[in-house]
Parts: sequence; structure tokens; C-alpha cells
Amino acid sequence: MMNSFAKSEHARVSREIEVRFYAELNDFLPPEKRQRAFNYVFTGTPSVKDTIEAIGVPHTEIDVILVEDKSVDFGHLLKGGERVAVYPMFERYDVSPVTRLRPAPLRVTRFIADVHLGSLARYLRLLGFDTIWERDLSDEAIVQTAVDEKRIILTRDKGILKNGRVTHGYWLRATDPKLQLEEVIRAIDLADDVSPYTRCMECNGELESVKRSEVARSVPLQVFLVYRDFKRCTSCHRVYWRGSHLRRLDKIVERAKNATSAGKPAEEPCGRLRR
Ligand SMILES: [Zn+2]
Repeated sequence: MMNSFAKSEHARVSREIEVRFYAELNDFLPPEKRQRAFNYVFTGTPSVKDTIEAIGVPHTEIDVILVEDKSVDFGHLLKGGERVAVYPMFERYDVSPVTRLRPAPLRVTRFIADVHLGSLARYLRLLGFDTIWERDLSDEAIVQTAVDEKRIILTRDKGILKNGRVTHGYWLRATDPKLQLEEVIRAIDLADDVSPYTRCMECNGELESVKRSEVARSVPLQVFLVYRDFKRCTSCHRVYWRGSHLRRLDKIVERAKNATSAGKPAEEPCGRLRR
């Protein structure tokens, strides 16, 4: 008798956690709770999933939950007093090692690269990632496009990421474009999403296969005679074939596919990996 009384009293005791939501998860919160840790009061021992949804964030938006810096699944029960951090799909790079709650990312990953990252942009396109880069885009234009089109900003300039409107950005540590490519793949965990030779390196347009006869006038005669398979950019109409220059690119593709989060940091010199 005493026991059950104590238990039900116990259930009514208010408990509190400190919780913080990251990146676009803040869109689901009232302004005063965005981009900061706040206290949340509850009773009983609810699951972390129910608690997060009670706060207003749909669990479908969430990739990683850390309780006291340890990753937990949705069923984890809260007791009060914990610090909880909740991350959306591609904030993964900050929260390793983690338990991922979903096997695949929810969204298509798109980028916009700042004016200094032209080579990286070309390499990302080579791997099939939709990447905007223009020589003379202002920081403001980059931010606006990123917000409008839900693109991740890639930059070596931390200043642009401090703009309050930026929700997704990645500050590159490496300076060599090939190492930058591996860094991005590793940081955002994209090795499985690589789809090489599907996008134009020059203009970001998608490539389509074309009949050999269609490119007869667009490529040099020697090329036409030697190669069978051609692709054409649907945007700028540049024609691609598997020439010797593509073998150099094959190496870049292979290295990117192998750039997993378990791999070496980006500082590793180029020639030393996978010999
Ligand atoms: Zn093109």
C-alpha cells in the first residue's frame, strides 16, 4: 500500500532536462528556444522520442540524439537531470562516434561552394553532387541561394557561416582540393552517395548518354573513331567520353569512395594512402 502510494507520487514529481536542438531542427521551436540550450520540465520517465515530439520537433527529422554525450536510440528513457543534444540528418560530422537512427539520409545533399573553391566544386560534380560555384558570387548571394535551395555552404571563410541565416555549412580544414573533396565526403558521410560521371564538371548540368552518331560533329575525328560511349551535358551540351584524362579522375573517384569516417584525417599526404 505504502509502496504504490509512493510510486504514484513519484510519477508526479517534476523533472527537468537541459536540451539543445541543432541546425534546422530549430525551425520547429519558438524563437526564444532556438540555437541555445533550454530546460524542459516533464513528469514520469518518458522516452526521449516522446519528449522531443512534445517539445515540437518531429522525430522523422532527427538523425542523432546524444544524452550526456552518448548516442541513444529513440526508446531511451529520461530520468531527469540529463543534458540532451538533438541533431538533424547531416550534422553528423560533429557527433562522432554516434548511433545513427536511420540507415540513409533523408534528403538529397546539395552544395554551394564559395568563390575560392572552384576546384573542389568541379570534383564534387565529378562525383555527381549538385554543386553551385560561380567565380563572382557575393557572400550574400551564396547565403541567399543556400537558404532558398537548401544547400550546404562549403567555405574556407568562417565569417560566412556566422551569418544568422545560414543553417547548413561546412568549414573546410584542408587547402588542397583533392583533400578537401575527401574531407567533405568523410565529414558529411557521403561515400555511399557517390555517383561519378553523371554531372557536368563545368556547369553542374546533368549528363545524359547520347548515340555515337549524334556527337560525330562535336568531337575530334580521332576521338570519334576510338570511343563508343559518349555523354552530353543537358545544360551546356559539352560532350564527355572516357579519354585518358578520365583515368586521372578515376583515381579521385576511387579515393573519394574510400573516404569513410573511419579513414585517415585529411592531412594525410596524397600519395601515401592506398598504395
Ligand atoms: Zn555542362
